[in-house]
Amino acid sequence: MLLTKNSDGFEKSFDTLGLDEPIMRALERLKFTRPTEIQQKAIPLIMTGRDVVACAKTGTGKTFAFLIPLISRLKSHSGTVGTRSLILAPTRELSLQILEALKEIGRFTDLRYTLIVGGYDYEGQFESIATNPDVIIATPGRLMEILAQTQFSLKKVEYLVFDEADLLFEMGFEEQITNVLKAVSAQRQTLLFSATIPQQLTDFAAAGLNDYRLLRLDTEYKMPDKATLHFLLCRTSEKVAVLTLVLQRFVKGKTILFCPTKQTVEYLIHLLPLLEIHCIGIYGQLDQKARKELLDEFKESKGNSVMVVTDLAARGLDLSDVRNVINFGFPQNHKMFVHRCGRTARAGLSGTVWSILDITEKSYLGDIAFNLDRELVNKVPQTTDTVEAKDELGYQYFDPMRAYYGRVGYSSLSEFV
Ligand code: UDP
Ligand code: MG
Repeated sequence: MLLTKNSDGFEKSFDTLGLDEPIMRALERLKFTRPTEIQQKAIPLIMTGRDVVACAKTGTGKTFAFLIPLISRLKSHSGTVGTRSLILAPTRELSLQILEALKEIGRFTDLRYTLIVGGYDYEGQFESIATNPDVIIATPGRLMEILAQTQFSLKKVEYLVFDEADLLFEMGFEEQITNVLKAVSAQRQTLLFSATIPQQLTDFAAAGLNDYRLLRLDTEYKMPDKATLHFLLCRTSEKVAVLTLVLQRFVKGKTILFCPTKQTVEYLIHLLPLLEIHCIGIYGQLDQKARKELLDEFKESKGNSVMVVTDLAARGLDLSDVRNVINFGFPQNHKMFVHRCGRTARAGLSGTVWSILDITEKSYLGDIAFNLDRELVNKVPQTTDTVEAKDELGYQYFDPMRAYYGRVGYSSLSEFV
């Protein structure tokens, strides 16, 4: 098998991890030969049976880092009644994506999986838990509803995963999570994964971790290596103009456009088509069928396409060919910024993030500049006629007619204008 060098200088392939044949076959089918760094470190550690808290930046293969040891542990369908593994995730879309990944990696086993998430009918979910699934992937709210209405027990759960763990513990799911923890086996192995695990793990004490190991590859502020970040400062009244200019002139391929509210999503999905910018919009209040259909439409789209979303789509979604992320305004905190940016430049690919900010959002930029793992450069294209407005910190204002901008990264807007 071909071996390539990892960033830590070691040459490794999946062969060295001692995985069962059905997993190796599935990996081969997926054409994955070399584990990512988090997979290389987390898989053997998890396979020792210890609790693990793992932090690695977005798009680095955390899903398989917890799914491969899961398959390795459960091996095949158990005739004994009782689900042995539970994976909790904050959103329906992410749960569905984890299920799809599990189907791939478990393809050559007879393990059974069930999805328990809001928005789908109860009937189907009652029926599916009656098939004695080995693994349940769930959002906490719906899982608790189903447990309350049935005799279904989680007592046999021995492998418990919290994906996007920090968000799950922040989202007001505290009560549900406490109930889940009461319902699962006391002897379970517990795993927490996210790109943003805080330095202090105090909140996670609630996860009932036992003698855990912390695996931290990256800090909370780590952006994907191949993401180029542009910060466009503009007047509030020109934000939409800047957005349309960016969409019409600068971005190519798939773009995820993040908005602060559902109202902004609705506004933009009406406005942008008038400017001949094709887009779809997804936000929490849409029914689940529409959410899934729209996401599928975006996944399958070719050429330039835009998905306008709220932060619902900021966590975990893995759409490999998203070339651009646009922040129409800054999110509520730096953590959300990291997750939004992480929808592009995944799995070693490159991507560009455009953040369109007005004066009221400049303090956020300061926070990012202070904590980011690279220098914030405010480089103006050399042509003198483009320099018009500067603020007291020296950031240029972005004039939609001309193009002034501050940036982090290495490409230059002057390439486009
Ligand atoms: N992936 C990969 N090599 C691997 C495992 C995964 O290229 O050995 C891909 C995977 O198919 C996915 C991408 O890496 O498209 C990112 O994975 P994931 O969503 O697990 O990343 P996370 O953000 O959770 O770290
Ligand atoms: Mg993930």
